Amino acid sequence: MKKYDVIIIGAGPIGLACGLEAKSKGLDYLIIEKGCLVNSIYNYPVNMQFFSSSERLELDNIPFISTEKKPRRNEALEYYRRIAFHAELNIRLFETVMDVQKESNTFNIQTSKNSYTAQNVVIATGFYDLPNLMHIPGESLPKVSHYYNDPHYYAGMKVVVVGASNSSVDAALECYRKGADVTMVVRNDSIGETVKYWVKPDIENRIAEGSIAVFFNSCLSDIKEDCVIIETETETVTLENDFVLALTGYRPNFGFLKQLGIEIADEETQTPTYNKDTMETNIPNLYLAGVVCGGLNTHLWFIENSRVHAKQIIGHITTKG
Ligand SMILES: Cc1cc2nc3c(=O)[nH]c(=O)nc-3n(C[C@H](O)[C@H](O)[C@H](O)COP(=O)(O)OP(=O)(O)OC[C@H]3O[C@@H](n4cnc5c(N)ncnc54)[C@H](O)[C@@H]3O)c2cc1C
Repeated sequence: MKKYDVIIIGAGPIGLACGLEAKSKGLDYLIIEKGCLVNSIYNYPVNMQFFSSSERLELDNIPFISTEKKPRRNEALEYYRRIAFHAELNIRLFETVMDVQKESNTFNIQTSKNSYTAQNVVIATGFYDLPNLMHIPGESLPKVSHYYNDPHYYAGMKVVVVGASNSSVDAALECYRKGADVTMVVRNDSIGETVKYWVKPDIENRIAEGSIAVFFNSCLSDIKEDCVIIETETETVTLENDFVLALTGYRPNFGFLKQLGIEIADEETQTPTYNKDTMETNIPNLYLAGVVCGGLNTHLWFIENSRVHAKQIIGHITTKG
């Protein structure tokens, strides 16, 4: 069987950055992606605007031209797709990596469709596949979603949005503006500090004027077909409800990392073990790239500060010989 110099798992922005770098250094590489190209971004809300300006999302210094300073999801899809096609990156889409086993100096990679071997493996699998669950009754009802897509769907309906981060705030504002009756349920006593600075006044003013209801210092304890139960600091509230958007964040697939033998460096944050200079894990020739590196601290790494991982990893692979 052909042995690749490097197999990259995940065709998100950082997997693509690794592919571009591997190609420019003449390595025999393959990117394997379980969904469509830049699958996570494809699954972001349709109207989503990045908090980063476009030049900070660029790969390989290829200009990212957007109509506003901060691009939107559909512009990012265009940008990354054009790059992947223009560079003729070697990518297999809709093929899931199920297992990676190391035998002496070779990795055996088993996917949903094929088997491959490689000298080096880069894991760039992100964190968007697994939502943080609330672990409450009713969470698996069809009216509950951990992903938000399009506000039109919720027009005229009673919607509870859980959380106060960027995702929750965007969803609450958009649904309100399309005629939904929106109530936010927020664990802390205010809207998140990291909410985009140009959006924060909007949500705070909508709350202040009563257009969007909010329960601070509160959490959901139960979800039923026609209502939700909210525990506040002082009382238990039953609220009529049609839909719940539980935008409580996401986490890397720790089971997958463990299966591959990657050790956890910090139990509390579940940060995986890797060398900060080379991005190599505790398993020689197995690397981590992109936002997967942060463990539960999913706010630590973005595209703009993790795209450098590509140069670190491919640089290490090529200098090793
Ligand atoms: C709503 C939202 C807004 C964000 N806004 C910004 C921003 O403005 N600026 C910024 O810099 N960052 C932003 N981020 C953070 C970060 O940029 C993104 O999460 C980015 O997509 C991370 O890139 P990545 O390549 O590391 O991971 P991802 O883009 O998540 O790519 C991982 C890929 O791996 C694939 N995959 C997973 N498991 C397997 C498997 N077993 N086999 C094959 N493929 C697999 C996934 O399908 C996915 O395509 C945002 C994140 C979210 C959720």
